[in-house]
Amino acid sequence: MRTETRPRTRTARSGAASASSEPGRDCPLCPRLVDYRLSVRAREPDWFNAPVPSFGDPDAAVLIVGLAPGVQGANRTGRPFTGDYAGDLLYATLLKYGFATGRYQAHPDDGLKLVDCRISNAVRCVPPQNKPLPAEINTCRAFLSATLAAMPRLRAIVALGRVAHDSAVKALGVRAAAAPFVHGAVHPVGAVRLYDSYHCSRYNTNTRVLTPAMFESVFAQVRADLTCR
Ligand code: SF4
Repeated sequence: MRTETRPRTRTARSGAASASSEPGRDCPLCPRLVDYRLSVRAREPDWFNAPVPSFGDPDAAVLIVGLAPGVQGANRTGRPFTGDYAGDLLYATLLKYGFATGRYQAHPDDGLKLVDCRISNAVRCVPPQNKPLPAEINTCRAFLSATLAAMPRLRAIVALGRVAHDSAVKALGVRAAAAPFVHGAVHPVGAVRLYDSYHCSRYNTNTRVLTPAMFESVFAQVRADLTCR
């Protein structure tokens, strides 16, 4: 499904944002998440336990936006989607469609490289129960907007789940009603296309809300569109 949408305001894509795209390790902006970060740091001092930076070259054409780091996944390892189930499906799919090379071994030193692709999250800090609050999503959007602004060749955003979709839509300056979240939808926004997918979480795959075939079809579409343009 494709719907034509236009940015309604001047946005990060048009150069309005000048903020850093990477928060500092002790970003203080979300008090609840800071408290949680500190509690996990105290419990697991060898884990990463900080805002997880984007992975991949800013000159990439594709940006994948997830929800937030998993406590034992990216929050532990420091690389998005690395170390938990969601990463198994995501990286296998990226390897299959040529958006990554190497071998994914669930560790940031596994040598896996992204190809013309970057991965970030709508919320950079691990939230309790994987559930960021609306205010936290809104606050962390400054970093998502700056991430978009720092990608001059950006052509495709793959939003994994509704939270990532809604935050990307706002970062792009599009009216929410003009770009509803639907798995498999493609929303053209100027020179960028926003692709929607259900999140590749263990829960979604165990309940068959998302099958590997459904997930792969999104990336097959991205690959086909990049090849055609
Ligand atoms: S979620 Fe984002 S804005 Fe909030 S504390 Fe973490 S890095 Fe800062």
